[in-house]
Amino acid sequence: MSGIYIHIPFCERKCNYCDFYSIENKSLIPQFVDKLCREIELRSKNEAPNSSIQSIFFGGGTPSILETYHLERILNSLYRTYPIQNNTEITVECNPGTLSKKDMKAYQSMGINRLSLGIQSFNDAELKFLQRIHSSVEAVDSYLMARDCGFDNINIDLMFSLPIQDLKSWEFTLTKALELKPDHISAYSLIYEPDTPLYRALKDGKIVPHSVDSDSEFFLYTMNYLEDNHYIQYEVSNYSCHGKKCIHNLNYWYGGEYIGFGPSAHSYIGNKRSWNVRNIRNYIDLLTKKSLATEGSEELSFKDKLYESVSLQLRAEGILREEFCRRFGFDPVLEDLFFDNLKENNLIGVSSNKLFLTKKGYLICDEITVKLLELYEIQIDCRK
Ligand code: SF4
Repeated sequence: MSGIYIHIPFCERKCNYCDFYSIENKSLIPQFVDKLCREIELRSKNEAPNSSIQSIFFGGGTPSILETYHLERILNSLYRTYPIQNNTEITVECNPGTLSKKDMKAYQSMGINRLSLGIQSFNDAELKFLQRIHSSVEAVDSYLMARDCGFDNINIDLMFSLPIQDLKSWEFTLTKALELKPDHISAYSLIYEPDTPLYRALKDGKIVPHSVDSDSEFFLYTMNYLEDNHYIQYEVSNYSCHGKKCIHNLNYWYGGEYIGFGPSAHSYIGNKRSWNVRNIRNYIDLLTKKSLATEGSEELSFKDKLYESVSLQLRAEGILREEFCRRFGFDPVLEDLFFDNLKENNLIGVSSNKLFLTKKGYLICDEITVKLLELYEIQIDCRK
């Protein structure tokens, strides 16, 4: 299967923790949409995935900032140029308060069938801390409006481990979230990305982050709480109701091809990964001259592919043993003391077809991944 990602690089206002590429200058939107459609047309002539498209994801930035006719124009360009399946999952990331009922109805009529709402918290002080533009009331209103308009596949994004948050206020956010019965929840730990205002505040000693132990407590609490409420954890940060896993995400994690359009978007086709220029003015200039906005590309080596598969699949529902054997020439479950220790300490599980992390394992996912990759590298070197 294959997916398409469209990066919409505009936001009403930058949030203090965000390092995604987006700008606040909305006057560039019409020009951007024009050039994005040109990029789709140009690239479709020489770049196509090897299978038909099963997911389209409008991310950003804030895609819901675009007029509905802009989104329709982009979708029409895609339908004209790429083999899109009938039942394709089409997601739009939205910020609460940026959509009207009329917009949502228009989304439905153009085939958009999944919304991802960037709610983050139901506590207004926390929303203010993150410099989000919406209130908790607006978040609930936007969600209910989407349901009312017939959306039956809604994700909400939430964030924990905020410096001003304790477990009690996180429990409040989770409880409010579950009252809404979303089909999917993405719950992320706050990350202090370099070059963000929040990172600078941290460096200046203006805020005190949670300790690693406290962060793990938030995470464990989240996993247990959502599991008790019948959500399936299918990746470190992603939980879904039955039948509502995000097809677009699964495609990334399990090695599917994807094409990314827009500034800073990445693509992966055949054996090649490529990425577009990040700056929107460069992006527009290049496409005005009818040249592609690709900034760089690389062929993935055998080791690159191994690293990518292990790190992504371990974070998700586990490494598929048979597929791994076929691609890399050995079983990912090794006869090794390290494996025995992981099993004894209930950090990994092994079934006939998968090697997967337990909840306890998810807490130290990065450490386990690094160690496994070291062991796999030794396996490869021994086989040379
Ligand atoms: S709305 Fe989303 S993309 Fe925009 S600045 Fe905030 S977190 Fe980043």
